[in-house]
Amino acid sequence: MTMGDDVKVPLRGMLIDGQLVGASDGGVLDAENPTTEKVIGRLPDATADDVGRAVAAARRVSGEWSGTPWTKRAALLRQFADVLDANRDELAELDARDAGLPIASMRADVTSAANEIRYFAGIAGETKGETIPSGPDQVTYTEFVPYPVVARIVPFNHPIKFISGKAAAALAAGAPVIAKPGEQTSLSALRLAELVKDLFPAGVFNIITGSGAKAGAALSAHPDVPRVAFTGSVPTGSRIMEAGSAAIKHVSLELGGKNPMVVFPDADAEKAAVASVAAMNFARSMGQSCGSTSRVFVHRDIKDRFVAALVKRLSELKVGDPMQDDTDMGPVAFRGHYEKVVRYVQSGIDEGATLAYGGKRPEGLDTGYFIQPTAFTGVTMDMTIAQEEIFGPVVSVLDWDDYDELLDQVNHPELGLTGNIWTRDISQALRMARHIDSGYISINGTGKRPTGAPFGGFRQSGIGKESSVDELLSYGRQKSVTITL
Ligand code: NAD
Repeated sequence: MTMGDDVKVPLRGMLIDGQLVGASDGGVLDAENPTTEKVIGRLPDATADDVGRAVAAARRVSGEWSGTPWTKRAALLRQFADVLDANRDELAELDARDAGLPIASMRADVTSAANEIRYFAGIAGETKGETIPSGPDQVTYTEFVPYPVVARIVPFNHPIKFISGKAAAALAAGAPVIAKPGEQTSLSALRLAELVKDLFPAGVFNIITGSGAKAGAALSAHPDVPRVAFTGSVPTGSRIMEAGSAAIKHVSLELGGKNPMVVFPDADAEKAAVASVAAMNFARSMGQSCGSTSRVFVHRDIKDRFVAALVKRLSELKVGDPMQDDTDMGPVAFRGHYEKVVRYVQSGIDEGATLAYGGKRPEGLDTGYFIQPTAFTGVTMDMTIAQEEIFGPVVSVLDWDDYDELLDQVNHPELGLTGNIWTRDISQALRMARHIDSGYISINGTGKRPTGAPFGGFRQSGIGKESSVDELLSYGRQKSVTITL
């Protein structure tokens, strides 16, 4: 497969009530390959009526699904995971074409989603109640009551992984799901719809596609959708909370980050620099990852060594065709996003940061939304590139030597998703881990999360925890029942 060789992807239906359907008004959106800038397919642009049909179907089947023994729900989820494994290469190829994400990392995403689904299948039985001591003449117990429908709205950056893996917890909990992928990268979701059409009872797992402003807004505002689980940007998360406020919806949010990495003077500068490239998700995601550590605070004593190793590592990354197995970085996902990243790079230059590496279109890649892996040094917290989430292949190095100043700067004013700390002094590391006001911290590693470790942001990075028992239980409510003997 060469870069110019675009395969056309057939128009596929959304999955609503067990049927593959187009938008009721025939509306479609184009799917563009960000490597070739050519339209390679189309996706249904769901209307509010389509959303309404999915909601009605989910509500209709909710009693049957919540009443299905958890072992049976778990067995179906394991089959769901098997479907992903069996179709891994095809799904990964679709994402590599549609999103520009390197194919090897998309295969890993399919495997990661299958693992997430199996994890939730394994803990589905945790949706249990308890008895509460209430005296000799009473019995009090609690019962887990799944929501009758869950909206699962996800972003563009991990297309197949999010549309499949992020549905698992609610399905395991006994709640029917209506999932919606990012409109820029929906082709794998539509193929998934075909693959799982007959797996669950009709209406249990619905997949709708289309624009955020129409399909996403109709889904999150629908009066019969009491539970909305959203992954995406802060402004959209805020809109979704607003849309749910009148009906007092249970909203959980996985939002953006502007995450710090702190490198102490006793750290191995070279090792930390290589880790900073991994933790920024340059390879595999082109920095389009919420947990990326885009603000790296390096102690002045080791800054020069750190920057030299960082630049060396960035220069080794292979930027090019995402369909090739050995490609580290493809293009960013779509034109609007490319233009945004380019604007941020320019703002870094204009505001006085030093471009240590990259910042341009890679040589020889004249088509496609390619940007070199980019590192700025001499960044200060008043610069736009230190303040705003770029969600692209751009890292900022800020140097420090005053510990109190570091403490003042390390927490972003609004965002608190992840943090990463490098030191050999464990007390120092744990003190900094307590100080960083974020939901997930890595010490001396690149943040590879073990299955089951709760993930989710503090402050404007979100509400709620995912990939954990907490997520499973968030798709239901506890009902207490007291019986007087
Ligand atoms: P986005 O907010 O633009 O879109 C996310 C989803 O919301 C898409 O499906 C979109 O169609 C839909 N949407 C848009 N407007 C809507 C509305 N008014 N009502 C309902 N739905 C609507 O985000 P994006 O640009 O696709 O993704 C990038 C953002 O996602 C970044 O900020 C990134 O940090 C964040 N993210 C967070 C996590 C996490 O786990 N915390 C993971 C991945 C990405």
